[in-house]
Amino acid sequence: MSRRQRLATVWLAGCSGCHMSLFDLDLWLLELAELAEIVYSPVASDVKHYPTDVDIALVEGAVATSDNLALLRQVRANTTTLVSFGDCALSANVTGLRNPLGGPEPVLRRAYLELADGSGQLPWAPGLLPELLERALPVHELVPVEVYLPGCPPSADRIRAVLEPLLRGQRPQLRGPEQLRFG
Ligand code: SF4
Repeated sequence: MSRRQRLATVWLAGCSGCHMSLFDLDLWLLELAELAEIVYSPVASDVKHYPTDVDIALVEGAVATSDNLALLRQVRANTTTLVSFGDCALSANVTGLRNPLGGPEPVLRRAYLELADGSGQLPWAPGLLPELLERALPVHELVPVEVYLPGCPPSADRIRAVLEPLLRGQRPQLRGPEQLRFG
C-alpha cells in the first residue's frame, strides 16, 4: 500500500467557516483518515510549526497581516499542492471589505474608536496585534496556487470533489455552477 499523503489545513484571515465545512464530510472523514495523515491543522492537531514535506495544504482566508504572510510563505515553501480554500482565499471576500477604508490606520480607527461602545483606545503596545497589511489580499496574489476551491464556505461535496482526486494523485475537475459558483 502506498504511503498516506501528508495533509495540512491552514487558517489565515478567515472566519473558520471553511474549516467547519470540513466536518460536514461526515463518514468520508474515515476514508480520508486512511488516505491522509493530518500533519498540521488548527482543528485537528496542536503542532505549532508548519512541517516540511507537506503534500497538500488547504489554505483558508485572505492574507491580512504580517503573521498571515509569514505563515503563507512557510506553507508555500514546504507544500507540493497548495489549495486556495474558500472565497476569502480566492478573492479576499469578507476579509477584503476593509480595503476601501484605506490602509491600517483608518481600519484601526474604525474598529477601536468609531465603533467603540465606551471610550475607545487604539492598541498601542508594540506587538499587541499582528501588523495589518495595507490591503487584505487573495492568496494567489502572493504565492503560486495549484488548485482553487471556491465557496463561502465550500460545501462538503465540493471539498470532497477536490480532496479525493488529489489524495489519489489525480487532478481535480470542478465543473458547472454547482461546483464553481462563489458564495
Ligand atoms: S470564505 Fe466564507 S466561510 Fe470561508 S473563511 Fe471566508 S467568510 Fe468564512
